[in-house]
Amino acid sequence: IYANVQKGPAIEVFALTQAFKDDTHPNKVNLSVGAYRTDAGEPWVLPVVRRTEISIASDEKGNHEYLPVTGLDTFTNAATQLVLGSDSPAIKANRAFGVQTISGTGALRIAADFLHTQLNRNVVYYSNPTWENHHKIFADSGFTSLHSYRYWDQSNRQLDFKNMVADLEQAPPGAVIILHACAHNPTGSDPTHEQWKELAELFERKKLFPLFDSAYQGFASGDPDNDAWAVRYFVQKGFELFVCQSFAKNFGLYCERAGNLTVVQADASTKAAVHSQLTLLIRGQYSNPPAYGARIVSKVLNTPELRKEWMDSIQTMSSRIRQMRAALREKLVALGTPGTWDHIVGQIGMFSYTGLNESQVKVLINDYHIYLLKTGRINMCGLNTGNIDYVAKAIHAAVTG
Ligand code: PLP
Repeated sequence: IYANVQKGPAIEVFALTQAFKDDTHPNKVNLSVGAYRTDAGEPWVLPVVRRTEISIASDEKGNHEYLPVTGLDTFTNAATQLVLGSDSPAIKANRAFGVQTISGTGALRIAADFLHTQLNRNVVYYSNPTWENHHKIFADSGFTSLHSYRYWDQSNRQLDFKNMVADLEQAPPGAVIILHACAHNPTGSDPTHEQWKELAELFERKKLFPLFDSAYQGFASGDPDNDAWAVRYFVQKGFELFVCQSFAKNFGLYCERAGNLTVVQADASTKAAVHSQLTLLIRGQYSNPPAYGARIVSKVLNTPELRKEWMDSIQTMSSRIRQMRAALREKLVALGTPGTWDHIVGQIGMFSYTGLNESQVKVLINDYHIYLLKTGRINMCGLNTGNIDYVAKAIHAAVTG
């Protein structure tokens, strides 16, 4: 029965993480997977998350009953408020609601399934480059017209806004356009406020559907409100849209799969039908979501002292990343490594799109045991005061070699 099944390609980021684990070299460095690391190179359970999980686990009244199909209300309401703002007119008018999903990936998949099956959408655009799963999720959902829009100017190592706009001008009315809400993965380069305004004007004129992928709220600026600026601007302009939220990075809850799909509508009257169809989609896929991560996020966001502590941890993470950006740039400049390295500090969020080419990446992996994606994307959190000299010297050798 299985004899004709062809082996599929490896998933680069997981293959690199495995290769890193198997590598016995004492100086090995993992700059591939998008997960936060402390300055000691360790995963970080946010202190407020640790305390909250202990308090939830020790609640004698707690149990493991099923959640409703669309998840924990206190979580979806808090998540929707986090991205749209507590004073959001859409929330006040009952035009916005959330459904719990299997982290950000699950939000994207449910969104894609809904758009395809309920709204007959078939055309999707994502940035080039983007998180590599966007294509797969929409293709697996049945979208047959998948396109990329230009986003990155490799020679100047910055956002290619002119060509982004030129490509989106070609999109047909109704096309679903995936936008990274902040801290674009992999380039770390976001549109400015003025550019977002221009995009909103284009979306309105061309009748494009904005689907915001929000996997890094808080990681770009250290302030979740700032990082939601683009989403809130589009909502304020009256768009109907989706936001796919992940709590993997900003709560460090990677494996707990806490996510939310926020739906913004023009009118509260469509809520019951849209909600019911999302419910049926989820029912057919996994019936109901896991509770663990959602309970933690809900308790933290809904308790002012805990929420404040979480905001402090977001600051800790984003400021460590900024320090590493400055340190890496400084070291490459001091070494006289050919090229300009200012983009490393100009970019924001977890990643830097270094501009290293595929053969330079190979040198880093094979000769220096430094693991990064072949596009040259590095996770800044993999750098720390203990390995940054080693990495800078290795980059210098790869570039000059
Ligand atoms: N979207 C982007 C841009 C991402 O980078 C990621 C994770 O790396 C996700 C969505 C989904 O993450 P998760 O499913 O772990 O929440």
